[in-house]
Formats: sequence, structure tokens, C-alpha cells
Amino acid sequence: MDADPNPPLVVTDARLRSGAVVDIHCAGGRVTAVVPAGEVRRPDGAEVVAADGGLVTESFVDAHLHLDKVHTLPLIGDAALQAYTGAGMADSARGIDLARAVKQHYRLDTLLPAIRSVLSDGLRNGVLHVQAFADVDTAAGLIGVQAVLAAREEFRGRVDVSVVAFPQDGVLRDPGAAELVEEAMAAGADVVGGIPWIEATQADREAHVEWACALAARLGRRVAMLTDDTADPSLDTTRMLAEAMRRHGLEGRGVACHARAVGHYEEARQTAVLELARDVGLGLVSDPHTGSVALPVERAVALGVAVALGQDDVEDAYYPFGRHNLLEVAFLAAHLLDMRSAPQLETLVDLVTTSAARVLGLADHGLRVGGPADLLVHDATRTVDLLARHAPPRVVVRGGLLLG
Ligand SMILES: [Zn+2]
Repeated sequence: MDADPNPPLVVTDARLRSGAVVDIHCAGGRVTAVVPAGEVRRPDGAEVVAADGGLVTESFVDAHLHLDKVHTLPLIGDAALQAYTGAGMADSARGIDLARAVKQHYRLDTLLPAIRSVLSDGLRNGVLHVQAFADVDTAAGLIGVQAVLAAREEFRGRVDVSVVAFPQDGVLRDPGAAELVEEAMAAGADVVGGIPWIEATQADREAHVEWACALAARLGRRVAMLTDDTADPSLDTTRMLAEAMRRHGLEGRGVACHARAVGHYEEARQTAVLELARDVGLGLVSDPHTGSVALPVERAVALGVAVALGQDDVEDAYYPFGRHNLLEVAFLAAHLLDMRSAPQLETLVDLVTTSAARVLGLADHGLRVGGPADLLVHDATRTVDLLARHAPPRVVVRGGLLLG
């Protein structure tokens, strides 16, 4: 008789973030029981993972990663990076224009190895869900999205990759990009992307948001945009997106990434846009390590908005580092967002696990009885050590199986 391909698994002496030390029983790819350590007998033939009092968490969720661009910085040098991040991000739009030069190097056989290596790095780091942005524009055509779609299939069952067809250079300032996004959706992309803030006028920004939300509503898909990726408080495409979601019945199905300008709004206006995001279920993703300004993460969390931290970039024209390590992202955010107290450290871990899952609308995520047997066994016993060391988990469990 063949061995059961998915035998029961028990993680023993697992320390939850609540402090409880438990055994976590899994079968059929689900968590079947969470009980005080040693209380329930292990099933015969069960695989045993000894956590030895180490923290055990749900998997990490990367809500925003430019996956087609990873490791492309050496191809074009860092002039774009200097423009994007310099002068308090006042010239970030010019950085995006300079970064377009990388597209002349886009070929499936050069993009795929880098994409695979970043998804593999993430897997080792416990990142089992990724919202991957793939550029779709008149320079790249569909090559970037084709590479990311191919990687999505290769990693199916290990890493869930949700592919955003993303018109990086805009749709009004890049005629033809809107049609390419529709082609990318027909080719299998999951989410309609957008970047309204980069358009030339307020009317064009409104038209960009309207186009993307109408398309998402027509296709029955989610929408994910980069909004207000600069310190300029005159930009308000986060508000536009939230209002368009309501007009098109997209409540709970939208994400705004970056939204840095919101951090420079005066308080009443900031509160109004954050409350609007909360009320329409617009999730926000902050990436404070890739720019010099950030959306007000703690205020957004306090007001009940779903918020995540994302890796954003891995060695591309916008950021020279990145290991697809969300604990490293959270560690950097602790400094950049001034979040160092014990409760704030817990919030930071939420922002790359449970809260990030909420941003992406992932119903099947979280460490609970009946939830998926996607578990990370860490060496650290305290949240502060988890963040300070930002080490890969000792064991990654996916669907009740050990990944190694
Ligand atoms: Zn980004």
C-alpha cells in the first residue's frame, strides 16, 4: 500500500503570539485542533515537528511586490533610483520615466530565473501569498505579465501568486496600455491594476480610476492601484479610488499601495480619506523602506482600515535591496514608522500576516481550528526576537506538508 501523501502532522510545544504553548494538530491540509501541549494523544503515523517552545505563526502575506522587475537594477544603473527617491520624492514621476529603459531588456528567458529566485527566497522566508504587480505597457508589451503568469503556475500549491496587470506608465499618457491590460486579463491575470497619480491632470487621474474600476467590475475582479506615490499633498487619487469602488460595487475588493501623500495631508482631510477607505473596504499597503515618506500606518490601523506592509521591490530601479523577507520589511518599518513598543511590535507582525490577508481579501488564512495548515515554526520565542533577527523560519508547513 502506498504511504498517505498527506499524513497527519502535529507541531508540538508551539508558542502562540498570545503566549500559550500548544500542540497544533493538522490533517487533510487543515488545522484540526489547537490544544494545550501534551493534552491530546498524537495520531499513529503522524509526522511530528517539535517547535520546542518557539513561536509558531500563520504564513506571511506580501501584499505588494513588483515581481517582473526583480534583480533588474544592474541592467540600467541607478539614475532612475536617484530620481525616484531623491529630494523627498519630489521627482519620483521622473524616476518612473527613467526606469522605463529597463523594458528594452525584457525577455521571458531573462526575467523568469530572477522571478523564480525571488519566489523561492520568499518560500524559505515563509511568504506563501504574494500580490505580484507585472508591468503591462507599450514598452514591455505583455512580456512581464507572461513571465509572472508562468511563475504563478510553477509555484502553484506552494506559493499563491495573484497577478496584477499593472500599467506602470499610466493609461492616458501611454496610449495602448489600456488595451494591453485587457489582453493581460484575458490571458489569465487576476487583478486590474492602475497608477492614476502619474497622469498629467486631475481629469486624467479621474478618468484612469474610472476606467480601471469599470473594467474590474465588468470582469468581476479585484482592483489594485499605486496611489499618490510622492509627498505632494495636492494628490488625492486614494480618495478617487475609494469613491470609484463604491460607484462600481467594488466594496472590499480594492487595494491602494504606497499612498504616501496621505501622510502629508492635514489631520481632518487625512481622517476623512482613511475613514472612507475603511468604509468601502479599500486596503492600504505601505512600503516605508522604498521611499522617504509614508502613509500614516498607525492612524490607519487605529481607524480600522485594513493595512499591510509589502516588500515592494527587490533590487530594481526603485530600491537596491530586498530579500523577499517580510520580517526584514517589518523590522525596517519599526524604525521608519517609529513603532518600537511591545504593542507596536505585535501590530507590525499583524501587518505582514493577518492584516495583510485582510487587505487582499484572503478568507482562508490564519492560525485557527479549521484554517489552512500553513504554519511557520520560528526559533524565536518572543516577538521582539522575531523582528530583531528577521531570520527565516526553521520549518515551513504548507497544506500540512513540510516544505524543505
Ligand atoms: Zn510599488
